[in-house]
Amino acid sequence: MSGRSRMLGYVLDEVFINHRAPAGHPERPARAEAVRDALYAAGLKDRGTHIAIRPARDEELARVHAPAYLDDLTRAVPGQTGWLDPDTYFSPGTWDAALAAAGSVSELATRVLSGELSSGLAVVRPPGHHAEADKAMGFCLINNVAVAAAAARAAGAARVAILDWDVHHGNGTQQIFWDDPSVMYLSVHQFPFYPGTGAPDEIGGAVARGSTVNVGLPAGSGDRDYLAAFDHVMLPALRSFRPDLVLVSAGFDAHHADPLAAMRVTRMGFIGMAARMRALADEVAGGRWVVALEGGYDLAGLGEGSTAVLGALGADTTPAFDVVDLADAAAPAREAIEATLRALREVAP
Ligand SMILES: [Zn+2]
Repeated sequence: MSGRSRMLGYVLDEVFINHRAPAGHPERPARAEAVRDALYAAGLKDRGTHIAIRPARDEELARVHAPAYLDDLTRAVPGQTGWLDPDTYFSPGTWDAALAAAGSVSELATRVLSGELSSGLAVVRPPGHHAEADKAMGFCLINNVAVAAAAARAAGAARVAILDWDVHHGNGTQQIFWDDPSVMYLSVHQFPFYPGTGAPDEIGGAVARGSTVNVGLPAGSGDRDYLAAFDHVMLPALRSFRPDLVLVSAGFDAHHADPLAAMRVTRMGFIGMAARMRALADEVAGGRWVVALEGGYDLAGLGEGSTAVLGALGADTTPAFDVVDLADAAAPAREAIEATLRALREVAP
């Protein structure tokens, strides 16, 4: 693909800053500002096209969230301040931010699917991957990437893959697509850890076995461990699934400096993961991938991770990478990867 034919669309907006956190809360507006500043410093404006935010429509939300849950949110949240669970706050600007997050990721997904854009990057808050069909949790109200995957399906995608490298398992995304063989959910995360789900034997419901893929890496895992999981689990699973579109739930809380988690991923690790997703998208999905911000609570780590992603999204050609030998992963990580491979082998045709 030549540089000229590639069009990266990005979403950045003040509406996501106006989701105001209580004092001391890690999911704070400075996160989006840190990502914005790092991306601008890396030349985002010259490498992509700004796409305006739009609110998610009711029918888009209703594809993945329960009507009673949406009714509860629309009664409790707009213009108000409060809590939906012990972690999940809302402020007067939260509802507009949540609708814009889900709507804008969906907009990028459908424009990439139609070919108007080649790829997309959404710097949104609040994050989404912990939000279940009928429950807010873990700083998340609306499952942005799930709404976008459903929007892409409604727009004609036969298969959509969601790769989630946030350090926490995306229990919400997994739950929403548990019984849906048309949406593959793949997560690599710290395990055991919040929210408790994401064991290797969680592989999807009876009609969708093998379309949920979980690699639960032990605390202390680093670049080689993550990249081995990509090379030996994520990429082979994605190649056989052949998605029409790849969505990435990109948290940067596996960064070594993150205050909430205990992984050791560096800037080079995020570069390696992003390069693999770009290469995979080019190989099986016509280059169609959209990256949405999830977690990440160290401001420098957010900058390093998001510029790594921009490097892969904005590259003129498919990035090359060296496959990591499984034997080069640390022993506990290798055992975790092998546990996932064993679980998936049981459903292989
Ligand atoms: Zn997270």
